[in-house]
Amino acid sequence: MTTAQVVDLDLAGRTALVTGAGSGIGRACAERLAAAGADVVVVDIDERAAKEVAAATGGRAVPADLSDLDAVDALPAAVDVLVNNAGLQVVAPLTEFPAHEYSLIQRVMAEAPFRLVKLVLPHMYERGWGRIVNISSVHGLIASPFKAAYVSAKHALQGLSKVTALEGAARGVTSNCINPGFVRTPLVDKQIAGQAAVHGIDESEVIGTILLDRAAIKELVEPAEVAELLAYLCTPPARLITGASITIDCGWTAH
Ligand code: NAP
Repeated sequence: MTTAQVVDLDLAGRTALVTGAGSGIGRACAERLAAAGADVVVVDIDERAAKEVAAATGGRAVPADLSDLDAVDALPAAVDVLVNNAGLQVVAPLTEFPAHEYSLIQRVMAEAPFRLVKLVLPHMYERGWGRIVNISSVHGLIASPFKAAYVSAKHALQGLSKVTALEGAARGVTSNCINPGFVRTPLVDKQIAGQAAVHGIDESEVIGTILLDRAAIKELVEPAEVAELLAYLCTPPARLITGASITIDCGWTAH
């Protein structure tokens, strides 16, 4: 399914940095911001994917492993729109959860966003305008079993986003979370296999009985639909939306 770009957004003269922009939601965000005229900095651990997206968007590829916090500190700081998007998932019961995977997920999904916010805020404050959009999840608001590291990191990201909103309020900077349910991306494809193993059921059953179990609308969200919400948050009428957590979850958290 293709999603039309309906939000009227002009980001000419603005620089946007998107993490995890080589794939899935991040790629869709990079494409959407580039379509609005932004210069896009495409950050991803996968150098080939970063270069491909940079070529497609007229942007700049900056390959980086966000679990290396020194590498995060060295990313470009002159950024007007920051999209904290990169993420990964590990599915395991708490009693068996690998400690090193827990630490890795906190670094990539909670600590790196903190370092990036700290890095780009001085530029945003100087220009009196900035948009920080954190791609959180329903798992920033509620929990699911077997996802201890991911749920913890997303809850941390929610807190960071709210503090950023409070501190940036007087300086023209907004900070918000987008909280998707399941989006059709490679991350979800990997989870389907993981959930099938944990629950001992077929991968085909995972989508209906586990992934979309709590969704009122039984559909996967498209990456471009998340990107369109991001686009709206960068428009002038969205200037008073800050510290918010906006779900796009097919009614999952309405229960
Ligand atoms: P994806 O397709 O796997 O894309 C994530 C990107 O981040 C990949 O290009 C990945 O590179 C990159 N990445 C992973 N670890 C990294 C690291 N250490 N340093 C730099 N880049 C790294 O995932 P997605 O589904 O688009 O997810 C994007 C964000 O949306 C994540 O924060 C996720 O939690 C959130 N989200 C997704 C869903 C969903 O259903 N898909 C729902 C809610 C929230 P590699 O592929 O090379 O590892």
